[in-house]
Amino acid sequence: MSKDFADWHPETALIQGGLERSQHMETAEAIYMTSGYVYSSAEEAEHAFKTDGARYVYSRYANPTVTTLQERLRLLEGAEACVTTSSGMSAVYNALIALLKAGDRVVASKALFGSCQYIINEILPRYGVESEFVDGTDLAQWEAALSKPTQAVFLETPSNPTLEIIDLPAVAELAHKAGATVVVDNVFATPGNQKPLELGADVVIYSATKHIDGQGRCMGGAILGTQEYCKEKVTPFIRHTGPSLSPFNAWILLKGLETLPLRIERQCETALKIAKYFEGNDAFEKVLYPHLESHPQVELARKQMRLGGSMVTFDLKGGKDKAFKFLNALKVATISNNLGDSKTLATHPATTTHQRLSDEERAEMGITDGMLRLSVGLENADDLIRDLDQAIATL
Ligand SMILES: *Cc1c(COP(=O)(O)O)cnc(C)c1O
Repeated sequence: MSKDFADWHPETALIQGGLERSQHMETAEAIYMTSGYVYSSAEEAEHAFKTDGARYVYSRYANPTVTTLQERLRLLEGAEACVTTSSGMSAVYNALIALLKAGDRVVASKALFGSCQYIINEILPRYGVESEFVDGTDLAQWEAALSKPTQAVFLETPSNPTLEIIDLPAVAELAHKAGATVVVDNVFATPGNQKPLELGADVVIYSATKHIDGQGRCMGGAILGTQEYCKEKVTPFIRHTGPSLSPFNAWILLKGLETLPLRIERQCETALKIAKYFEGNDAFEKVLYPHLESHPQVELARKQMRLGGSMVTFDLKGGKDKAFKFLNALKVATISNNLGDSKTLATHPATTTHQRLSDEERAEMGITDGMLRLSVGLENADDLIRDLDQAIATL
């Protein structure tokens, strides 16, 4: 049995939570790389199938390494239960589909990670789910959209890549009045830094591929919520449709969790340093960072997020040509559409993550041709600042 972590700080829970040692008494978590489990008698097998969940029967259902990860993530989020998945997108899809059926309605913020938008805009309507998008920062739009009965609300805050903040308690109140379950993708805020469940949300989603692994090694996802929602709605769906997490990936993510608070703290600290250093620099139209004094929603950002996150967005003057020149000049930061890594990664959203959108849609979301998104890693802050400075000097 795992220890009771109710009284311990997250750092402690993320190192020891959910640990169940084998008979060999290993220090590190064991990797149970097995698809199936055996029984010492036919009676034992019969009993296992009669008492669902009492022991491991098949790794699509449950696996000890995966169980340890789920318990640790549950402690991190302060949720009643956690279900892990093979990627962040399978977490988003399963969290929503477990709630919805034909004839239902989902309301979402417009500024979503591309694949999340695809699920809500393209996939769900095919199965008879009506979807409506709102400007997440405009409470009047939420209120209008939620004036009809609605089953699910989906949002990300801060948004990608413009780092706009959505008022979680206000949206949750409107959503609950409409009968909706509020699902928050918390990746951009970073795990542990913003607690959507304490701010009125019902379900939290992570792409564990990002900060939880944090070292670019594997894919994974997590759904956190009430025991009733996870066990009765999500688990049957996952069990029978199969987006289960590999025990090997679960083990990598477990090791990621041990250092997560340290990494998040440092990455957010460096991101703030970079944002402050370049704020007001002539090369940029603006520098966007949730905890920067100049952020239009800085008060809300400080209220909802303990630290400002690991993403900084720059609106470079001179459009795509200058943006490409800047990216190509970087020596420490690397060009990649990924994020949340120990390596600092720079993206040009207009031609990569958001290239599927029309010019009008990008303009409406505030995504300019000169916009660059920086996912701040664990390199030395002064080296990163020096790198960005020398890239500006080439323009
Ligand atoms: C990466 C990401 C996802 C998707 O996660 P995968 O692990 O890539 O499937 C969803 N939402 C946000 C905000 C992300 O950054």
